[in-house]
Amino acid sequence: MADSQQPIRDTEEFRDHISTVAEDGKRIYVYPKKQKGRYYWRRTIVAAILLILFLVGPFIKVDGRPLMLFNVLKRDFIIFGIPFTPQDTFLFAVTMITSLVIIVLFTAVFGRLFCGWVCPQTIFMEHVFRRIEYAIEGDANKSRRLDKGPWTKEKIWKKGLKWTIFYLISLIIAHYFLAYIIGADEVLKLIKSPIGSHIGGFIAMIIFSVIFFMVFANVRDQVCTTICPYGRLQGVLLDKNSIVVSYDFERGEPRGPIKKKKKKKTELENLAASTDVATPAVEPQGDCVDCELCVKVCPTGIDIRNGTQLECINCTLCMDACNSIMDKVKRPQGLIRYASYNSIVEHKPNKVLTTRSIAYSVVMVVLLGFLGYLMVGRTAVKTFFQRARGTIYMEVDANHGKNLYNYQLINKTRDEISVDFKLLNKEGTLEFVGSKDLKVPPAGVNGGMAEGAVFITLDKKDLEGKTTPLKIGVFKDGKQIETIETGFLGPGQ
Ligand code: SF4
Ligand code: SF4
Repeated sequence: MADSQQPIRDTEEFRDHISTVAEDGKRIYVYPKKQKGRYYWRRTIVAAILLILFLVGPFIKVDGRPLMLFNVLKRDFIIFGIPFTPQDTFLFAVTMITSLVIIVLFTAVFGRLFCGWVCPQTIFMEHVFRRIEYAIEGDANKSRRLDKGPWTKEKIWKKGLKWTIFYLISLIIAHYFLAYIIGADEVLKLIKSPIGSHIGGFIAMIIFSVIFFMVFANVRDQVCTTICPYGRLQGVLLDKNSIVVSYDFERGEPRGPIKKKKKKKTELENLAASTDVATPAVEPQGDCVDCELCVKVCPTGIDIRNGTQLECINCTLCMDACNSIMDKVKRPQGLIRYASYNSIVEHKPNKVLTTRSIAYSVVMVVLLGFLGYLMVGRTAVKTFFQRARGTIYMEVDANHGKNLYNYQLINKTRDEISVDFKLLNKEGTLEFVGSKDLKVPPAGVNGGMAEGAVFITLDKKDLEGKTTPLKIGVFKDGKQIETIETGFLGPGQ
């Protein structure tokens, strides 16, 4: 067959499917080899700090309340001790947009650094569950053999022990997640009370703990490669300047076992000696000795030497693995390192400041500034005040008229608040329908809301045409916290 008729080999074929799916569509279960190293220990320290924060978080209180609470059911949120209510929707939306820009910026510059170092899935999987698995079943080969082998006594007790510990930890995680939703005190109350009194909650807890168990016992890497949307976004967020875990192909290729290289050189030298000619040039050899340790340690089962891939969670295990090999073969570390594609090709340091990162940073700073402005201007109470629908001007006497208004007060704090209304731009009187004691219950109690109606009476000589603009101040502890603008309907309207 002529060269032109040769089929073109698709060297990027691995990108057509994820690494853990075989040609017949079946899952390829990954057994990553145990690997330690500089980056592993650094990640361990970060993971230990985050795990401690996760475990003590629900018990940290600010003014007697949880530091963090995400009670979606009761729409009760506390973030770093600051309570948020459903009325903070705009603030929430701006926070979400700002977070999104930060994620985009961070990913464009540093890739999936979050996944490898901070993500709860990686922290629990690699630093808790995987370590228990190694301790019980041994390293990758032993674990694989155990899985493939028959159900012997050894397999039954090892699997039984592992799954029991996995389930107990999953149960603890589920309780902690619940503590972040309803508060640690409520969870402790539920634990102490009879199951029959909260059977629905008990079933939900079992379901969640089983889900966690399945995620860490079986689903594992599939969470990062197929379920997590952040991983899927990588393709559009990264560019050639993104600093990710990369194989330096300029330095590593052509790869090959170190022994072959020596043998080849010796053969060439012998040939040169026997034929009395100059030593022919030895084919240049890269630093990669093709040991495949970087592939064997990868928890998502990829070969980083193929380039940046969707499945890479930047866990740095291949960096540690390759550094250990480079030490053994006495070559410089860093064949796999944090590097951008451009820095490898151009043999230059990584570039953090690029047009793209600067543009994202400008947007981020503007949004953070706006968010700061909203937070500073955030009042303890949100007031809705408007003329009662369908009502008209009412004559009080020859000199005075009144309008009826409805008000609604939303408390954004965790304390009961007493407020007062005062007319700011006109002389007049306020006559409350019912109690004039404006007490607003704390956020989370009765929706943190108080509502009612009030008549405002003005002197006719103060009226300005059809509708007189009114400014009403909302006062708390004698201090004005809000100004409301509304209108007062004159006679004949
Ligand atoms: S390629 Fe390296 S950094 Fe990426 S997931 Fe695999 S081991 Fe971790
Ligand atoms: S660990 Fe390093 S030397 Fe070994 S195959 Fe991977 S890149 Fe090559």
